[in-house]
Amino acid sequence: MSRKPENTVFVCAHCGAEVIPLTNGSYRNHCPICLFSLHVDNQPGDRSNDCRGLMKPIGGRYHSKKGWQIIHRCQKCGMEKLNRIAPDDLDAVINMMKSEGYL
Ligand SMILES: [Zn+2]
Ligand SMILES: [Zn+2]
Repeated sequence: MSRKPENTVFVCAHCGAEVIPLTNGSYRNHCPICLFSLHVDNQPGDRSNDCRGLMKPIGGRYHSKKGWQIIHRCQKCGMEKLNRIAPDDLDAVINMMKSEGYL
């Protein structure tokens, strides 16, 4: 396994989907299908956190400057993080927010 901070294909630890990197230069750290992420970063993309816990999407919000963001909570250490979403995540984000009672 490479630990280089780069956009590479990864397999989602929650649903097993193969996650393709974004082509517009942004960094994708979560699965576009189930939105789960892994707690591997301190700063986005740096892979410097050793927790490796599964991060569950627990909500979302709209930020007037940053756009849609997902709130992830680590199932291992409990840390909560905000993550920007990719445009093709939006349907999954809206479904998750409905199921969590946000919408
Ligand atoms: Zn997934
Ligand atoms: Zn963690």
